Amino acid sequence: MPLPKCWPLFTKAKGGFDLFLDKIASMRKNDPYSEAKKLIESSRHITVTGHLNPDADALGTALGLWHIFKRLSKRTDLFFASHPLPQHLGFLPGFKNIRQSINPQSDLIVTVDSGSLDRIGIEIEDGVKIINIDHHRSNTRFADVNIVEPEFASASEAAFKLVESAGWDVSKEAAVNFYAALLSDTGFFGYEGVNERVFDFAKRLLKLGADAEWTARMLRENQPLSKLRLLPKVLQTLRLYLDGRVAGLDITLRMLEESGASVSETDDIVNYARSLATVEVGFLIREEADGGLKVSLRSKNRVDVCKIALSFGGGGHIRAAGFTVNGLERELLKEKLLKRIEEELQ
Ligand code: AMP
Ligand code: MN
Ligand code: MN
Repeated sequence: MPLPKCWPLFTKAKGGFDLFLDKIASMRKNDPYSEAKKLIESSRHITVTGHLNPDADALGTALGLWHIFKRLSKRTDLFFASHPLPQHLGFLPGFKNIRQSINPQSDLIVTVDSGSLDRIGIEIEDGVKIINIDHHRSNTRFADVNIVEPEFASASEAAFKLVESAGWDVSKEAAVNFYAALLSDTGFFGYEGVNERVFDFAKRLLKLGADAEWTARMLRENQPLSKLRLLPKVLQTLRLYLDGRVAGLDITLRMLEESGASVSETDDIVNYARSLATVEVGFLIREEADGGLKVSLRSKNRVDVCKIALSFGGGGHIRAAGFTVNGLERELLKEKLLKRIEEELQ
């Protein structure tokens, strides 16, 4: 049986036992989970936040942690910079407590589901500590403590691992939020990252009081009419490329205006492009209010779309990624994008 790595310190060196203890102490220090626990427990005022245009993973993970921190009798705020917030996710327990301006008293910011600091949408003042809890492969490790688990199916898995290792209580409200985050980011337990560990996590959340049927129903069947009015307009734009292996969709500001839909209602429409039998890569290009173009990329099982998004300054996961460009015309962007996709399809 192989000896533990620190064994030679214990046996050989003079004063070896001290060195052994030092080594254990430094291992603890470098463990982001115990570092995060220490920072959270010693902070005076925590703000929990997530990425711009938050989805159910960002909101559910942040809300879950917020409930848990409140139980620790911590002064805790929830903050999301995007306005308006996705009202169809208003069923998440605690949603109405979300602030849209940051509390200046915060001495600790906990970000969830955010691959880089610019995805939060605010400047963070000097002296304020940051803990980054995420599962994006492209995460830039921007914080004082980085808990980044690219193998995890949802940011809520990393948050729960922290909560568990710290020994904090998980209320029913927190469990519901984490379950919604997990369900949404795994495509209702259908995506590649789903494995026994994910189902074990789901089972624990159900034991803690999450309701599987209710959460699934609220995520799927709580849509505003404007979203269904938008959908046919977007599907009209469907085009196939590269022998049908790629499908693209467009959303313009005008379509949003005509249907009354907000940006958060466009979230999963890109999945229609990927849903076609022949398609490996689906993309959606959405016009932003400032004239920028937001690109969403999805793949089935071969192409690493995170790599493509990174080459355009964005990021994400292997099968779901995105980026935003400014000052590029839509057809020119499509040309460049298709070239990159073609390279990855080889
Ligand atoms: P979306 O296409 O917006 O649904 O995003 C797909 C995945 O890529 C999500 O996990 C996002 O967090 C990530 N992502 C989207 N846009 C960006 C970006 N500009 N930079 C980094 N990651 C992004
Ligand atoms: Mn997200
Ligand atoms: Mn996520």
